Amino acid sequence: MNFSSKLLEDAVAEFSKLPGVGQKTALRLVLHLLNQDVQDVDRFSKAISKLRNEIQFCQVCLNISDHPVCQICASPKRDHSLICVVEDTRDVMAIENTNQYNGVYHVLGGLISPMDGIGPSDLEVDSLVERLKTNEVQEVIFALSATMEGDTTLFYLHKRLKNYNITISTIARGIAFGGELEYVDEITLGRSIATRVPYINSLSK
Ligand SMILES: [Zn+2]
Repeated sequence: MNFSSKLLEDAVAEFSKLPGVGQKTALRLVLHLLNQDVQDVDRFSKAISKLRNEIQFCQVCLNISDHPVCQICASPKRDHSLICVVEDTRDVMAIENTNQYNGVYHVLGGLISPMDGIGPSDLEVDSLVERLKTNEVQEVIFALSATMEGDTTLFYLHKRLKNYNITISTIARGIAFGGELEYVDEITLGRSIATRVPYINSLSK
């Protein structure tokens, strides 16, 4: 692409680094921004820069948060004896949207994937184990995607957690194999949490 302006070229180069955005789309987005009011574009760029600079991860559950401890972990209304283990913040959002879960979360920050060089030490596993040592936790629910990576992670985590005096369950897999959690509709996801099954039973199916 030949650009008439170096500023235009630089902006397009930055946008095309985003997932799923090619150069053509990047150019369309940049030209769109050029048509907006200066204040609007300022607000846009400030929101992104503020997000990156000020975002925190909850010290307890590792979810993205504006505070050292997120609203869910800080809430006395939530059931702190119940931890739902998820891959990332999108899953927390999906489950919260069901309005059917009142426990707390633990965000792993990914799934075990030998193909991508992601092992257990790259995930928030130790911090999960630490949470179990407080004796406050009675049940851990795995809500991981029904993929090879999800199953590998589940298998590993079960090994790490099984000696603690807690119930380990997994969401009912009405979700088709290969299904990503965030794409499941709210009713199905809500129901699959409500009808969760002990992890051992889910293995023998
Ligand atoms: Zn939290």
